Amino acid sequence: MSTIFQTSVALVQGTTLSDQVTAVLRQNITNGIWDVGAMLPSESALADNLDVSRTVIREALSRLKAEGMLASRRGRGAFVASNRPRAGFAIAEQDVESLRNLSQILELRMGLEIEAAALAALRGKEDAHANIAAAANAFERASDGGMAGVTEGVSTDLRFHRAICEATGNDYYLGLFNYLGASLKETILAGRLQALKRGGESHGAIAEHHGIAAAIALRDPVLARDRMRAHLEMSSVRLLGSLRSAEGCAS
Ligand SMILES: [Zn+2]
Repeated sequence: MSTIFQTSVALVQGTTLSDQVTAVLRQNITNGIWDVGAMLPSESALADNLDVSRTVIREALSRLKAEGMLASRRGRGAFVASNRPRAGFAIAEQDVESLRNLSQILELRMGLEIEAAALAALRGKEDAHANIAAAANAFERASDGGMAGVTEGVSTDLRFHRAICEATGNDYYLGLFNYLGASLKETILAGRLQALKRGGESHGAIAEHHGIAAAIALRDPVLARDRMRAHLEMSSVRLLGSLRSAEGCAS
């Protein structure tokens, strides 16, 4: 029996591990086991208790941050910001399973990230720019891993895009990106696996990331916008194409 969690959440079929972990953490907050203002146990303690990877914990934490239930203190981890789930913008789990809804979510992502790239170019600090370049390199290394590296590839892709939102210095950009990223991650992973299975491995994204990082480092917002738009358009085409072929539909 877990020492941190006094409740158990029934596993619901069709939900992901991170949905389930998010539900357990949310329940620990709403039932007052963690009071408002309380620091959460460390990521590794949570991972050990729930017997999941730290990646799953991080994803659940970022969803709860996007919901406004958790916030971060610099260098000290997450604390409870609110015990009430904030009603408001939400993407339902099943939305990403419909290609029509998915393409609309990807369109929303473009609106957010094209402007984030421009803001990162205009006002990102040196260290934020260095994080973007480092994330582009990490994505390149992960992309050599073939089938085995696919999870790492998706994580480092999201890390690159998150680093750009961080460089805007606007926490709302980061919060919305984290929400979208957590919503899309499983779908992106499914698309990548499908592409690899079909031997359609594309290295285009590596060069596209480096191009965006270079435009941001040059502090050129117009170029950064253009390159981010091109990358996200290509990414959407690649993702929707893989998923469509997985469903066996033409077009
Ligand atoms: Zn990307």
